[in-house]
Amino acid sequence: MTDSLTMPTSPPMSGAQASLYQQLRGHLATLKLTAAAEHLPGVLAQAEAEQWSMTATLEHLLAREVEATEARKLAGRLRFASLPTPATLADFDFDAAPGVDKKLVDELATCRYLDTATNVLLIGPPGVGKTHLAVGLGRAAAEAGYRTYFTTAADLAARCHRAAIEGRWATTMRFFAGPTLLVIDELGYLPLPGEAASALFQVVSQRYLKTSIVLTTNRGVASWGEVLGDTTVAAAMLDRLLHRSVVLNLDGDSYRLRDHHAKNDALRHAATGTRRPLQ
Ligand code: ADP
Ligand code: MG
Repeated sequence: MTDSLTMPTSPPMSGAQASLYQQLRGHLATLKLTAAAEHLPGVLAQAEAEQWSMTATLEHLLAREVEATEARKLAGRLRFASLPTPATLADFDFDAAPGVDKKLVDELATCRYLDTATNVLLIGPPGVGKTHLAVGLGRAAAEAGYRTYFTTAADLAARCHRAAIEGRWATTMRFFAGPTLLVIDELGYLPLPGEAASALFQVVSQRYLKTSIVLTTNRGVASWGEVLGDTTVAAAMLDRLLHRSVVLNLDGDSYRLRDHHAKNDALRHAATGTRRPLQ
């Protein structure tokens, strides 16, 4: 932090100038414009050296404060989003996922789907990049200024279960209604019958046509009845999710297993043997 009355590039200040400068520093401190206060000496020196107009000088000074505020807000949104990995859409390798339409993902990266409360369903077997894309979409939304929250279907169900026991159901439902984008990862890995299915259904219903959900699942929609233990709930939930939605089917080789394939054919058979065909 530079904080001297006589910057190397500035001529020494007169007493009156120095006190005015101190008053200005004081104003910035009172207003909690920390970044502007920090950059004040540098901006003033540059303004003098380059003969900036007063408007340009003020603009430069306040721009530093705006940058700092934006960075702080973004950090807050990313903290809240609870993304489990640093995955981004930019580091998704489309050559390794031939089934994925790059144009469609590029369109989703603009976050325009959030304006129409469109949902995104990522369907495919384990290891094909569903979570990667979901996290990437979450990050893109947070970076674009949208309130974003990442959870797994199992976590969501567990939280709702605790909330029901502790009498916080309504608060928890409001929490899951809040974010502009809610990412629900891994529907189908664990069965979610009964109360868990109802919780998920209520979250989907209250967001319906208002805010977007990005949902990943290893199960084709035809087997959601099995996952949720109830075909009626599954059908009603699918109605709402799919009404305004983009569906990406990711199939093919598991990215996680790609390296091993070359090395060890036996491992390949063992690992992919557990994959379910999409229904
Ligand atoms: P899924 O959620 O479908 O089971 P993940 O998204 O967790 O799969 O992917 C498994 C690992 O492989 C992750 O580390 C992910 O970043 C990586 N991965 C998968 N597909 C790709 C891809 N097309 N490009 C880059 N990394 C990928
Ligand atoms: Mg996953």
